[in-house]
Amino acid sequence: MNLPVNPVFFTVYTYICCSPRVIINMFNLILFGPPGSGKGTQSAKLVEKYGLIHLSTGDLLRKERQLKTPLGIEAQQFIDKGQLVPDEVVIGMISSALDENPAARGFLFDGFPRTVAQAEALDKLLELKKSSIALVLFLDVNEDELIQRLVNRGKTSGRSDDADESIQRKRQEVYKHETLPVAAHYEKFKKVVHIDGMRGIDDVFSSLAVHIDKKIG
Ligand code: AMP
Repeated sequence: MNLPVNPVFFTVYTYICCSPRVIINMFNLILFGPPGSGKGTQSAKLVEKYGLIHLSTGDLLRKERQLKTPLGIEAQQFIDKGQLVPDEVVIGMISSALDENPAARGFLFDGFPRTVAQAEALDKLLELKKSSIALVLFLDVNEDELIQRLVNRGKTSGRSDDADESIQRKRQEVYKHETLPVAAHYEKFKKVVHIDGMRGIDDVFSSLAVHIDKKIG
């Protein structure tokens, strides 16, 4: 590569490349895993410890539904069937949330991205902010345990998509076909770390923290 020789240009060039304002300064992570793997529970603890902004597309969609916005009403039809809400809807929500938090130390994405198209869109949105995903923490939980957890959650959560076992099985199918490839997308960049999510909440949290601390340095 030819470096610019003009001294003024060179100074500006060096400033832009080396300025802390331009260096990647946000810490963004994705908490990844199938429905019922504990993402919501662990997100709450991680956000408290690391001061990240929690962005859960499931929570954002449920809020829209509660407010009976057109987006919320449209999304509900997909949620109730255990299907994914169209990419453009959730990407739009995430894009707005990123813009609403310009001073964030970083974001914790929970339940997003759920398709490769969403992952590619997220990478681009972060790139525009001179940032990227630092780490994808993948909670491994076997399917029988997941269904059991969701059945139990359905007794108290009041979530329409938790109530019915056939919808939960549908959500696991959607996860395998549409969401699992997102992990492969980030494996290419060596960003994925697998965590045994079959253990108790505190043990899982300790493992997550070890990997984050290692990454933060
Ligand atoms: P969650 O609370 O993350 O389990 O999400 C509940 C439901 O909201 C999902 O089953 C989907 O119907 C919808 N949803 C949440 N996040 C997304 C996403 N990133 N892409 C598409 N649909 C989503």
